[in-house]
Amino acid sequence: MIPRLKPILGMDEFLSLFCRISNAVEHFENEFAQAAGVKHAIAYPYGRSALWAFFKALGLENAEVVQPAYTCVVVSHATVLSGNTPRFIDIRLNDYNADLDQVAASINENTRAVIATHLFGYPLNVDSLNAIVRSAEERFGHKIWIIQDCAHSFGARWQGKLVSQHGDVSLYGLNISKMITSIFGGMMTTDDANLADRLRKWRDENFHQAGIVKSLSRSLYLLAIYPAFNPSLYGMMYWLQEQTPLLNSLTKAYHLDEMIRLPPDFQDAMLNVEARVGLAQLRKYESILSARCENARFYESRLAGIEGLELPPMVDGATYSHYVIRVKDRQRVMKEMARRGVQVGQLIEYSIPHMDAYRKYASGHSFQNSLLCSQTTINLPIYPGLSEMELQKISSALIETMHVVN
Ligand SMILES: *Cc1c(COP(=O)(O)O)cnc(C)c1O
Repeated sequence: MIPRLKPILGMDEFLSLFCRISNAVEHFENEFAQAAGVKHAIAYPYGRSALWAFFKALGLENAEVVQPAYTCVVVSHATVLSGNTPRFIDIRLNDYNADLDQVAASINENTRAVIATHLFGYPLNVDSLNAIVRSAEERFGHKIWIIQDCAHSFGARWQGKLVSQHGDVSLYGLNISKMITSIFGGMMTTDDANLADRLRKWRDENFHQAGIVKSLSRSLYLLAIYPAFNPSLYGMMYWLQEQTPLLNSLTKAYHLDEMIRLPPDFQDAMLNVEARVGLAQLRKYESILSARCENARFYESRLAGIEGLELPPMVDGATYSHYVIRVKDRQRVMKEMARRGVQVGQLIEYSIPHMDAYRKYASGHSFQNSLLCSQTTINLPIYPGLSEMELQKISSALIETMHVVN
């Protein structure tokens, strides 16, 4: 079976598990900043820790934080647990990003930050967003931070310029489902030296070094990924995932228990071993990004015009963390695809203001597009290393599936 996602791991990452480098985290930060086209990067154990720590370090509390209704729920968890309130915005169906007119209308005197999410690798119109935020700052007389959420959009560009070079800070997640990985891990980047110092200082005073046991377990976790995502073994993995609870904790969404919380180790420092793996991944950064774009173009050429598929837009500067299609009967499509040896993903399968824990933040809005996407999106395997034959197999499987379900 062809897995829905696959981290790009080779000999370099394997070897990096065993050779200790001193100050690996600092090295990783420096090289990550370079790849993101900015001056500073600060490492965390998760992306959500970076966001949480940002609010804490700046003393932001009891403020409204504008964010999309359709995004990874850990963003909202970090917002709430830092003592702030999410203000949700519906997305647009043409690129899955927040509707900027609604962003403009939602900013009020309590707004202290806007999270600019570039979902599925699609660049948000950062120029419009900047104009909206600058004018709101003038109106309300205080700073409103722009936090770019680049967890899906490594290397994405708006009008030729990296989105990570806009706004005040940019946020990244680095788990194995992301475009590059450091096992787990997160980063926050910025061009502002004072801000970087402040964030780093707060992190160093409030995050703790984890012990050897965690390093070992993270190394074993990464080692287990190598065979697990091998297509000839993946059929068994898939069966285990579907039929037994064994792997759910590892592979299924870890946040569907509807609880607002962060993992127990969210205030650990990034591990040396995680940084080493991240360094090895950065060497492949450009080739990973370009392979994803190529695979997206392949699908576009095969699937355009097939009835029942709402294909993702092809956008200049997008980097396609996911190749997202909307279909009517998602469960049926996923089942038919699995029968044909292809696992498709269903990311993101919830709309945050529709979740029990977040209903009280919905403030009477209906978030129709967010709800629609939560029920109808699938995503095709799009990682580098898919052979032309595999891409062909996936496309044919989907075309056949649509004949069956239509
Ligand atoms: C993965 C992700 C994050 C950060 O996730 P962590 O698991 O905390 O590293 C933030 N935003 C989006 C949109 C994500 O997909």
